[in-house]
Amino acid sequence: MGALLQLEGVVSGYGTVRVLDGVDLAVPEGAVVVLLGPNGAGKTTTLRVIAGLLPTWRGRIMFDGARLDGCRPYDVSRRGVILVPEGRGVFPALTVRENLQVASRADVTAGPSQRRGAVDDVLDTFPRLRERLSQAAGTLSGGEQQMLALGRGLLARPRLLVIDELSLGLAPQVVEQLFATVAELKARHQTVLLVEQYVTHALHVADLCCILDKGRVAFVGDGGELRSADVLTELYMGQRSPRSGT
Ligand code: ATP
Repeated sequence: MGALLQLEGVVSGYGTVRVLDGVDLAVPEGAVVVLLGPNGAGKTTTLRVIAGLLPTWRGRIMFDGARLDGCRPYDVSRRGVILVPEGRGVFPALTVRENLQVASRADVTAGPSQRRGAVDDVLDTFPRLRERLSQAAGTLSGGEQQMLALGRGLLARPRLLVIDELSLGLAPQVVEQLFATVAELKARHQTVLLVEQYVTHALHVADLCCILDKGRVAFVGDGGELRSADVLTELYMGQRSPRSGT
């Protein structure tokens, strides 16, 4: 599998504060890549840089063989990189139906009947949403809002779906359901980059796991390699900094 997305030595941050310190990351076409790491490691910042919401100070981002860094968020999404941000990313005052209809318009190549079909597909994936079509999105439960946010992301027909904190603050049962959806996407060869805190679930679904620590990728491998390398304990328990080499 060739890399659909590739970050090479990406440096970025906020104002004058450097947060990403040379991030190297490859997301192969058709793979689910999970980005793990302790709080404040720069996971969300990495996704923001990819989405064009933050500038790349140094390094470069390649997507499908062309530069992505320097593109505005609108252009990034036009090229098929769709971010489902932390905090759900739905329009709270619009109903579920309206949220999906608005998102379906992102696919400018589709006609009205194709758009309706795409919305139906999302409702088949998340039957809970079908029961709540007329409800304002802001009154949905956290899990339902996350389903809606994912559904909206899928309606843009992403080449790369980028999801920040899929399971943040959600009940274990809902988390399982969301990960089942990610597994379905994987079966359909949807390329996904996912930031996640639930390590166990993440390891099940991931083709590749990357651990970010202090603004750099400290480990890349599959779930088995990650478990056997003990890096999880070392990084999350703060016993060792991989950059200090001690
Ligand atoms: P978490 O798991 O806690 O969400 P994370 O790995 O996603 O952490 P980021 O949100 O990328 O980490 O934050 C990395 C660093 O950047 C942190 O030190 C954070 O305080 C800082 N930071 C994040 N957003 C901003 C901002 N808007 N302005 C200034 N600093 C920020």
